[in-house]
Amino acid sequence: MKVTIDRNAGFCWGVVRTIDVAEEEMQSGEALYSLGPIIHNPMEIERLKEEGLETISLNDFGSLRGKRVLIRAHGEPPSTYDSARRLGITLIDATCPVVTKVQERIRKFYDNGYQIVIFGKKDHAEVIGLVGHTNNEAVVIKSVDEVEKVAQGRKTVLFSQTTMDKATFYKIADLLRQRIQDFVVGTFEESAIDFHAKDTICGQVSGRDKKLREFASANEVMVFVAGRNSSNGKVLYDICHEANPRSHFIEHPGELQPAWFSGVSTVGISGATSTPQWLMERVKQAIEQYQV
Ligand code: SF4
Repeated sequence: MKVTIDRNAGFCWGVVRTIDVAEEEMQSGEALYSLGPIIHNPMEIERLKEEGLETISLNDFGSLRGKRVLIRAHGEPPSTYDSARRLGITLIDATCPVVTKVQERIRKFYDNGYQIVIFGKKDHAEVIGLVGHTNNEAVVIKSVDEVEKVAQGRKTVLFSQTTMDKATFYKIADLLRQRIQDFVVGTFEESAIDFHAKDTICGQVSGRDKKLREFASANEVMVFVAGRNSSNGKVLYDICHEANPRSHFIEHPGELQPAWFSGVSTVGISGATSTPQWLMERVKQAIEQYQV
């Protein structure tokens, strides 16, 4: 049985950068706290915890005066920076530059009076950060079924959480454009209402579609490794499963089932942008043990 790790899988550069910042900051030996899990991968969180990175939540801020807190790649709303300033907490800002750029663009449209619509998951940390840049006024929709939440008659701009699915983004953009045109027709408005769709899906996720499809089809069985709460992990796994129905999602090697590999000659291993290389290596070693 030939077991191959997808060479396009593994950390995206934004995550590599965040972990590098954390590891560098921990070298001083001074305590470092991560606001929320640094990455959507429990195994990597555990490894970094052993190095001294403790995960905290906003509720712990009150007891962290004078301490250092890391902002992870997802970013934070402006209110977090305000609280840290007020409480004398030093923030180590490791927000992914791609996310920072989206925050800045959203802010600009918001300041220019636009209704902001975000295609994303309202409880996802990145989305909470983005919404914070609109004074919590942005409308968050996670599917085409929710376009009716968007008010008509206002100039509107659609953005996306960086890890969402491109095809759905464009479906939502078309529906919103149509909805706005219907409004214009229905009310005999003379000038069209302004609508923009800004595809802010990160190339590190969308660029992988095609390569992942090819890799998944080239193997008899696929094992996709990611944290269950990883947003891009879900998107990429769906692509993998579509290309190869014999795909299995696991978080750690303990979830592998020997029956998946019986009589199989090629197995592919892939993962999300938050899946560490060492974890995929460990999965590979575990699968190789099933060889007869
Ligand atoms: S997926 Fe893109 S936006 Fe998200 S952390 Fe990685 S590089 Fe940054």
